[in-house]
Amino acid sequence: MPSRKFADGEVVMGRWPGSVLYYEVQVTSYDDVAHLYTVKYKDGTELALKESDIRSQSSFKHRKSQSSSSSPSRRSSSRSRSRSRSPGRPAKGRRRSASQSREHKDDKKKAIQETSLALPVLALFKRSENNTKRYNGEPESTEKNDTSCVILEQKLKPDLEINRVLEQYSLRSRKDDKKKEDIYSVKKTFVAVKPIEKVPTKTKELEFGGRIGTFMLVFLLPATVLYLLLMCKQDDPSLLNFPPLPALESLWEGRVFGVFLLWFFLQAVFYLLPIGKVVEGLPLSSGRKLQYRINGFYAFILTAAAIGVLLYFQFELHYVYDHFMQLAVSATAFSLALSIYLYVRSLKAPEEELAPGGNSGYIIYDFFTGHELNPRIGSFDLKYFCELRPGLIGWVVINLAMLLAEMKIHNLSVPSLSMILVNSFQLLYVVDALWNEEAILTTMDITHDGFGFMLAFGDLVWVPFVYSLQAYYLVGHPTSITWPAAAAITVLNCIGYYIFRSANSQKNNFRRNPADPKLANLKFIPTATGKGLLVTGWWGFVRHPNYLGDIIMALAWSLPCGFNHILPYFYVIYFICLLVHREARDEHHCKQKYGLAWERYCQRVPYRIFPYIY
Ligand code: NDP
Repeated sequence: MPSRKFADGEVVMGRWPGSVLYYEVQVTSYDDVAHLYTVKYKDGTELALKESDIRSQSSFKHRKSQSSSSSPSRRSSSRSRSRSRSPGRPAKGRRRSASQSREHKDDKKKAIQETSLALPVLALFKRSENNTKRYNGEPESTEKNDTSCVILEQKLKPDLEINRVLEQYSLRSRKDDKKKEDIYSVKKTFVAVKPIEKVPTKTKELEFGGRIGTFMLVFLLPATVLYLLLMCKQDDPSLLNFPPLPALESLWEGRVFGVFLLWFFLQAVFYLLPIGKVVEGLPLSSGRKLQYRINGFYAFILTAAAIGVLLYFQFELHYVYDHFMQLAVSATAFSLALSIYLYVRSLKAPEEELAPGGNSGYIIYDFFTGHELNPRIGSFDLKYFCELRPGLIGWVVINLAMLLAEMKIHNLSVPSLSMILVNSFQLLYVVDALWNEEAILTTMDITHDGFGFMLAFGDLVWVPFVYSLQAYYLVGHPTSITWPAAAAITVLNCIGYYIFRSANSQKNNFRRNPADPKLANLKFIPTATGKGLLVTGWWGFVRHPNYLGDIIMALAWSLPCGFNHILPYFYVIYFICLLVHREARDEHHCKQKYGLAWERYCQRVPYRIFPYIY
């Protein structure tokens, strides 16, 4: 096994992935197995690099000194060659005479600033040229030109300089900024032509309490579902009134499991129907883009039609209510089996297809968080399918079953106002998610988290069986609310929905098409990755406005259940915890991705979710 060349803490020059540029970086660790160095750029970005992409600083200093000793004629020719490739290059014919040295120095400083964000992009074009070596900062090269000089100085400039560069490009309205189109088109090209080639490394920072935490969660999550459903069945579901444990045999029935399988595979058939457009997801670390069929809303319509037919033929949908616990157990068993399958198949997955957060090497951790990022059987994307179909549509069907059960059990000719509100609000949420299905492709679940127990259980058990808790509660605990109260709760839900939808759409549109004229009045901070961070509009209000909207809606879903018990408020309490934790995870990832730009964003937008509170 070859020994490592660079030590932890050593400051070296690291190649920017996918480009020919070298930047000053610090080695933070070394992976003996993958033979990769984790290095930290000055803007805080951390990447894993191969040894061949790292050079010692001395080799660059050596080169720089060679440059300065080169003949003016050579310098002049290389200057004219490279000028067309870099907007930051000095004007043609400018010579480095002593009398002009000050002016040249200023120009160069300006050039450094102007190219700071665009250089990695320009390098992509340079790379394909046959004279690449002349511009790539290779230490062994003896060729010199002003471009390399600019690049070298840029690499060596202190943090303060980077800060100034960011300052210069930050917080400009795209409407007013004349240069913005240039900057922007370059950024877009960067993203479209080639994403940063991140070599997947082992996950070092473990989340969810690491191995012990994830091990416990595998048991705790199903136990919580069981507990909540048992509590809901009680006449007095007070916290201190612990429900008696049911007989094990009462929790399982083969036929109910069959019903669950039927449901799952029916949704799979709907997913496979060749209706709806096919779109590309965000680029993977390999640069590849996966294709996704957008037909969730059609699946919902087809499901609604199928349920309509069942009801027409007098099928008793409150079967779902009667066998609710058994259905939840069936879904749990299925999600566990699916997670085992996912983990086993992930062991054979190529390294670049593993999830950035689920590749720790610890079985339980990777099993829980998901080892493989996008497990597919042919073109059937298991994670994408489970995210929005069986669980989410299932949630609406369960709610409807609860509504019918309420009417039947309490001999009502119409459902209660509370039940109507809960059903309507949650129906709106699900229809919205399916209508905007494409937006899921830019969420953490798809782009960062692997598909393991966490998402399989979350999608197939937690969402349908816990999120429908209010409707389940209302069947056993009728609650009447007044019309004014119902109106106030509806307004609250609409406010939450408006914030949630407009914030998500704003970010999604910005990510998909940053040049969208509808977003022209928004300001953003550019980042070294080529993506911008919105600092006005919803994303300038708080750092996660979509979470704020979601939480407001969650409260509106619980309020129709009255104030007799805390149980129907479980959802909003849990949801605040989930989103606060999720926000912290996202914050951490964004800091790694965007470094200094993210810090500037946080300074500009200090509150995370709740304005003036958190
Ligand atoms: P978000 O949709 O909030 O996405 C976070 C990402 O947005 C960041 O990683 C970053 O990614 C990008 N981003 C952050 N700040 C900015 C900015 N200022 N400008 C532009 N882009 C920015 O994450 P989630 O996937 O967690 O949530 C999606 C939706 O799903 C939310 O509405 C949430 O409430 C909801 N949700 C619902 C759950 C439920 O159980 N009901 C569970 C979890 C989420 P990048 O820069 O790489 O694009």
